[in-house]
Amino acid sequence: MAHLVEPRHHVSLGDYEGIASLSTAVREMRQEAESLLPSLKGRRVWMVNSTSRGGGVAEVLPPLLALLRELGVEANWLVMDSENPAFFQLTKRLHNLIHGEGDPDLGNEERRLYEEVSRQTCEAILHHAAPGDVLVIHDPQPLGAGALASRKSDIATIWRCHIGLDRETPKTRAAWAFLEDFTKAYDHAVFTAPEYIPGCLAGRASIIHPAIDPLSHKNRDLSVHKLVGILANGALIRPPGPVLTPPFSDQAQRLQRDGSWAPATEPEDIGLLHRPIVTQVSRWDRLKGFRPLMEGFVALKRGQANRENLEERHRRSLQLSRLVLAGPHPASIQDDPEGKAVLTELARAYVGLEPELQADVAIVVLPMRSKKHNALLVNALQRCSDIVAQNSVQESFGLTATEAMWKRAAVLGSHAAGLRQQIRPGLDGCLLADPEDHRQITAGLDDLLRDPWKREMLGRSAQQRVHDNFLIFTQLRRWLVLMTDTVK
Ligand code: UDP
Repeated sequence: MAHLVEPRHHVSLGDYEGIASLSTAVREMRQEAESLLPSLKGRRVWMVNSTSRGGGVAEVLPPLLALLRELGVEANWLVMDSENPAFFQLTKRLHNLIHGEGDPDLGNEERRLYEEVSRQTCEAILHHAAPGDVLVIHDPQPLGAGALASRKSDIATIWRCHIGLDRETPKTRAAWAFLEDFTKAYDHAVFTAPEYIPGCLAGRASIIHPAIDPLSHKNRDLSVHKLVGILANGALIRPPGPVLTPPFSDQAQRLQRDGSWAPATEPEDIGLLHRPIVTQVSRWDRLKGFRPLMEGFVALKRGQANRENLEERHRRSLQLSRLVLAGPHPASIQDDPEGKAVLTELARAYVGLEPELQADVAIVVLPMRSKKHNALLVNALQRCSDIVAQNSVQESFGLTATEAMWKRAAVLGSHAAGLRQQIRPGLDGCLLADPEDHRQITAGLDDLLRDPWKREMLGRSAQQRVHDNFLIFTQLRRWLVLMTDTVK
């Protein structure tokens, strides 16, 4: 089963061309498209993934599809469905295993389930796609469906795998052994880094870096009054906003008690506009390292009281600093069934903190009134943060880090393979060797909170790096070349 989704996008190529720093990239992309489009004429492109909101893939697809359309490619978006929750639990296990984590014991029962849902999804795909079309399948969830479609119909098939680990482990081997048979049916595969390509796809895969859209609601510039308006409407500040009660403790207590979590109805002032803010925005996933980040921050707060010879400015910055841990409502993402459990674990740890430390940590479940609203909230949160952390235990490429770099935030990442590709340590951000070592997190935060000048320098270089490497135009050109080569 799968349904068509309209890739909504509020800007056109002309809007990018009107911005001096982007116009060259857009012109080059147009030229490339003109020379390649004849090979794609008469063919439709179908991109298939497993959720229309939440997570990196759902973020990348709408602008990619919308711009392909504007360039003249008939590109469409299909989102797979499954009424069986066990399917997304299984694919989440595969996701974790490809990152080297979780239970590797995959047997016949798992295979039967995966094949059954793949068959249903394949039927839905072939209801839309015709011979000669190009099918681009994203990630392991619809991989099996794409493989079946490729065997049944004369369509070109590309598998885009957004995840990976830079080394082989028994767990990654278990995941690839499960998926290998399906990968064989594809004409080509795409990964984010050469190290992620498994043996079964060696020689048949290329590299494309995920990229961001500089004019999307997530990334566009926000004036100060717009930013304040978004935070106030999102119930994250109370305009004009003197400091109020410790935020979110009521919600956390409720989550602890009966497992429910409702977005704040009353605005809470979490000091976003008048304190040094450290933020991490991610799905509620253990691999994102929220818990150790909170523990590292709390250790920094506890430790500061005992420190002598602390410069007054630095002491004040530490005293006032606030940690914001933000993510989507767990029920809003169909293919990530672990979100609620991870958020509950975090809330339990939060409830166990001393009240004065609770007041310095905010766990924010971002309302999902609409994709635009959620995107603007993430944008505003990243823009008003002094440090954006991405403390991932594993990360094949953190779009959140790229988004923050584009906004000139000082990014504190981990040594996860993807973040190492995005951030040159000491130049456009900082990287922690071990995201589960609280002492390193404490020291990393301390170092950045101490030095506004360093944060400024890192942020400037980060924005330039994103401009040169991780904007959507390069990505789109690479897709055009790849699709053209595949149909030849
Ligand atoms: N995101 C969002 N709302 C949230 C949390 C995350 O829109 O509440 C977005 C985030 O801005 C980014 C994407 O989801 O664009 C996450 O992509 P990333 O590559 O960082 O991680 P993934 O979720 O794909 O593992």
